[in-house]
Amino acid sequence: MRIRGAVLEETRGTFSVQELDLAPPGPHEVLVRLHASGVCHSDLNAIDGTAETLCPAVLGHEGAGIVEEIGEHVTRVRPGDHVALNWLPACGVCAECARGFSWLCSTAWEGMSTGGLEDGTTRLSRAGEPIYHYCYVSTFAEACVVSERSCVPIPSDVPFEIAALVGCGVTTGVGAVARTVETKPGDRFALIGCGGVGLSALLAAAALGADPIIAVDVVQEKIDVALTLGATDGVLWQGSPEATAAAVRDVTGGGVDVAVEATGRPEAMLAAYLSTRKRGAAVLVGIPREGTVVEIPAGTIQRAERRVLGSIYGSSVPDRDFLSALELYREGRLPLDLLISHRLGLDDVVQAFELMKSGTALRVVLDLASSG
Ligand SMILES: [Zn+2]
Ligand SMILES: [Zn+2]
Repeated sequence: MRIRGAVLEETRGTFSVQELDLAPPGPHEVLVRLHASGVCHSDLNAIDGTAETLCPAVLGHEGAGIVEEIGEHVTRVRPGDHVALNWLPACGVCAECARGFSWLCSTAWEGMSTGGLEDGTTRLSRAGEPIYHYCYVSTFAEACVVSERSCVPIPSDVPFEIAALVGCGVTTGVGAVARTVETKPGDRFALIGCGGVGLSALLAAAALGADPIIAVDVVQEKIDVALTLGATDGVLWQGSPEATAAAVRDVTGGGVDVAVEATGRPEAMLAAYLSTRKRGAAVLVGIPREGTVVEIPAGTIQRAERRVLGSIYGSSVPDRDFLSALELYREGRLPLDLLISHRLGLDDVVQAFELMKSGTALRVVLDLASSG
C-alpha cells in the first residue's frame, strides 16, 4: 500500500514527508493504522547525529493506532484492536529475557542496528529502494508494519495521544522512578532536566508520595511548569554541577534519596549524583553522546553507600507496564494530558523538532488520523 511518512535521508541530512510503499505484514507481523505519535528526544538524536541510525529511515518510535491487518500466525491482536507500540520487541528466550529483564533483550538490541524488523528486512520502500525502520516501528507515518510483539492491546477508550506517549517517554520516566529504583512515600526527590521524560518521572514521583520534589533545569520556564505538575521547589542551574547540587542539598536538608537525570549531559549526571544523600541513588535516564565520561570521587560512593543506576525503557515490561500506567492515568493519578504542549499534523513534523529544540515545548504529539 501507499503511505506518507517522514524520511530522514541521512544523519544530519534532510527530513521530509514523502510517499512510500509499505509491504503487507508477513508471518507474526501486523499492519497498524497510526493515529498518534509523540516526538521523542531520541528521534532528535538520530537527526542530529548524537546517535547514528541507518538511513534513509522513517523515524518515530512512540505511537498508537488501530490494527488493520494481521499476517499469518498472529495471535496477540486482531483487526480493530487498539494498540500502543513497544519499540523493543523482546525475544523472550535470550539470557536477559530468561532472567526477567526483557528491556535488556540482547537479541532485540542487536537487531535494532539492521534498521529492519525482527528478521532484519524492511517493509518500507521508495521506488524499489529500501527505506529503514527506526526502533522496529517508524511511527511518523500514516501506517506501519511491526512485529506482533510490538503490539500492546489497550482499552479502546484511551486517547491515542496518551497511548502513544506511554509507548516511550512516559514508560521511560515513570519506570525509572517506580521500577529502576522503587521510590517510596517520603523519599526526597530531585529531577535534573524537565523535558517530557523527566516530567513523566516527576509525575510518578508525586504519585508515589515523594516529598520534597525538586525540579532542576537551565530554563526557568521549564521549572515553572514542573512546579504546576507536583514539584515542591525549583532550582535553576547554578553554572556547575557542584553549585547546583549544593543548592539541591540546601533545599532538602542534606540531599535526596532519588535523583533522576533526564538530559544525557555529563554535567547533569554529575549534578544528580552530587545531589544524593547517604544511601541515595542517581538514576541516569538521559542518553549520553557516545564516549561520554563522568568522573565521580570514588570515596563518596563507598563511604556513603550512594548508588548510580542506569535506566533504559523504564526497566519495563510493556505488556504489563503500559497498562499499569494507563490505569493510573484513568484514575487521575498520572495526569498525562498535562505533558502535551503542542498537537500538530504529520506535515508539521519538521516544525515539531524546531519546537523541541527551542526548549519551549513539553511533549509534541502528531495527530496522524487527520493528516493527508
Ligand atoms: Zn523515545
Ligand atoms: Zn531476549
